[in-house]
Amino acid sequence: MASTLKIGVLSLQGAVSEHVQHLAQCGEEAVEVREKRDLERLDGLVIPGGESTTIGFLMNQAHLLDSVKSLCRDGMPVMGTCAGMVMLARDIEDGKPEQPRLGLMDITVKRNAFGRQKESFEAWLEFKGIDVKVPGVFIRAPLVTQTGDNVEVLARLQEGPVAVRRRNMLALSFHPELTEDLSVHRFFLDLCRMTGQQ
Ligand code: GLN
Repeated sequence: MASTLKIGVLSLQGAVSEHVQHLAQCGEEAVEVREKRDLERLDGLVIPGGESTTIGFLMNQAHLLDSVKSLCRDGMPVMGTCAGMVMLARDIEDGKPEQPRLGLMDITVKRNAFGRQKESFEAWLEFKGIDVKVPGVFIRAPLVTQTGDNVEVLARLQEGPVAVRRRNMLALSFHPELTEDLSVHRFFLDLCRMTGQQ
């Protein structure tokens, strides 16, 4: 049997416990990441939804931006959901000036592209690499407005891409942790397992 993966969930703000529970339900070990030493020996990292300006500010304060950047550049798989997608994006439309970010993924995202909290919605998505449709919960969600070279679009709505991948980075506009469905987490865990074998 494959060994258990150790996956960090950035736990500074946002939908943390739901990711921890999903990872545990997939049979993996989830570790809450609040400081640098929590990043040791991780097989992957989840950056949850919440508020990207706040997450960026707190990551900066905890001196986590540079460590996560270099681990991700060295190949550690990272999944960013909603605000986590904004954190990964190189360019942000409608962001706060100088909002701290990882800026690792060659995409442009537009924050709150689908409107305000009360315009939240759910949609079933075709997701490349997953056989069944995936339920997506969109809450003040970002939309991908530009993709660079080697960015693969995995799911889209009429408005544009809502799930993209580049190498070891996976970015989602929606919240896969807010439904019972585990398929997107399993997809990410497969990526972590593949990376570990390289
Ligand atoms: N609009 C938020 C941001 O830009 C993201 C919302 C969410 O994560 N649900 O950070």
